[in-house]
Amino acid sequence: METKIKGIDGIEEGARIIKEGGIVAFATETVYGLGADAFNEKAVAKIFEAKGRPQDNPLIVHIAGIEDAQRAAELTDTAVKLFKAFSPGPLTLVLKKKKELPYAVTAGLDTVGIRMPRHYAARALIQKSQTLIAAPSANSSTRISPTTALHVYEDMRGKIPLIIDGGDCAVGIESTVLDLTGNTPQILRPGAVTIEMLLKYLPEVKNFQGEIKTAPSPGMKYKHYAPIVDCVLSRTALSALKEYKRARAEGKKAVIMGRKGYISDKSVDFIDLGQTSEQIARNLYRKMREAEKIYNLIIIEEFSRKDLEYSIMNRLIKSSQGVII
Ligand code: AMP
Ligand code: MG
Repeated sequence: METKIKGIDGIEEGARIIKEGGIVAFATETVYGLGADAFNEKAVAKIFEAKGRPQDNPLIVHIAGIEDAQRAAELTDTAVKLFKAFSPGPLTLVLKKKKELPYAVTAGLDTVGIRMPRHYAARALIQKSQTLIAAPSANSSTRISPTTALHVYEDMRGKIPLIIDGGDCAVGIESTVLDLTGNTPQILRPGAVTIEMLLKYLPEVKNFQGEIKTAPSPGMKYKHYAPIVDCVLSRTALSALKEYKRARAEGKKAVIMGRKGYISDKSVDFIDLGQTSEQIARNLYRKMREAEKIYNLIIIEEFSRKDLEYSIMNRLIKSSQGVII
């Protein structure tokens, strides 16, 4: 199958493919998504096949307006309040699913993740398809999520007919997943809508911190966000440099990645992730994909555990399999 990349002029064609039961990759503000008609089980199955995604990892249902949510989920007052506060944007709410939504989307769960993306391409595609779009990230399973159309092409070439290129993703990491089905709202996956932001609207929010085996969000148990080369986190610039020199002495092509100015020694290969945490989130996956093509050891600065840096660290701990030096 030929995989075309089109700009927003490809939205009409994308909507036609979705209506006909096909799959299409499209830009969102978080990462690129790979979408299908959420009410068409066969179409949804194609997503799992193209990604090599385990069957028990649920997809997120993308909507264009709050009214749309009712077609797939039971809306609660809290959900409406949060949608009004943070949507369109990088927040996915886990709610009780309606029976009309096939279990293929939720991987057999009675709950469903619902998100209203902000990106024009995603919104127009949902509206023109006249349905809701079930979509995970558009990468091959276990790979780094795509933040450019070219990343999608690298992973999905020959497997999908169309990629709708909407430029580089503004947020750069996946949405915050907030479960509203328990007694206390619980963040299953931290993202750009942080716990600090949610606590302005909710009296209580928990961060998921359990064992991966008992993860209530099935996606959490899989290896994720992993570059194809070794990756470690460094507690200090000094430990990063030590590891860099040790690896280089062994003939390994090492690189250090971090906030602007983390490493000042010009003789060291250093990848600048940007200054603010927003810039770091936006650049992270792109720089990781670039680095893994050239280097075989990526040493990444350990960030704080506050605000957006908490969400960045959540991905980095997975990328490095928790190795901090
Ligand atoms: P992706 O967009 O590729 O990151 O995949 C969607 C992710 O959303 C899954 O891996 C889960 O972590 C999360 N998710 C989606 N639906 C649910 C749900 N019903 N319950 C818990 N987590 C969910
Ligand atoms: Mg994903």
